[in-house]
Amino acid sequence: MFKKILRPKDKKKERDSKEEKNSVALYLLQEKFERDEIDFEKMVRIPSGIDPREWIATHTLGLFHNINQLYDAISEVCTHCRNMNGPEKRRFTWTDDRGKAIKYSAPQHCAMVFSYCQDKLSDTTLFPTKFGLDFPDDFIDQVQVIIFHLWTVICHIYQNHWTDVQNLKLKNQLNLIFLHFFNFAKEHAVVPLEELLLLEPLFRVLTCQN
Ligand SMILES: [Zn+2]
Repeated sequence: MFKKILRPKDKKKERDSKEEKNSVALYLLQEKFERDEIDFEKMVRIPSGIDPREWIATHTLGLFHNINQLYDAISEVCTHCRNMNGPEKRRFTWTDDRGKAIKYSAPQHCAMVFSYCQDKLSDTTLFPTKFGLDFPDDFIDQVQVIIFHLWTVICHIYQNHWTDVQNLKLKNQLNLIFLHFFNFAKEHAVVPLEELLLLEPLFRVLTCQN
């Protein structure tokens, strides 16, 4: 009868409870996934005769491109996410140049991720494009940072935007990117194991190992 007038505090509570509700891992309840029989384990393994860094660089570029594109598609619905949260109530922070951890909103955090990764991937001293130029000594360290940033975006999308992804019919695309990412990260140890555990249950669901 009466439209309830929300005071600022109530509004905050309403937003919090919405985010709380989203903490249920809905993406784990998904039905059969059409993965086109892609052998991701084989796909990420370094073929003989290939420079491992060359191989890792190629996959990093591909993953960046795919995750960036997917986030672009859902970015409009992410504008309201106050926290860069992931599964298991994880909240990701951004580390500034002085090493200080900053809690940005999800759209701000993701914008920082993509701009950081774009800069690194276009840096030809890190990702050489000319024949004869070698990768720097800290190449793997730098890739680990890039890959971890991209991981935070994947975690946030599953945690907060699974319904949006389904509505946009991007479910299969997201799952394929995830499987590529997860297998790549595991094979080359570019993401700390404890981080990968956040979405390990999803990996088991998608690969039917549970
Ligand atoms: Zn979001």
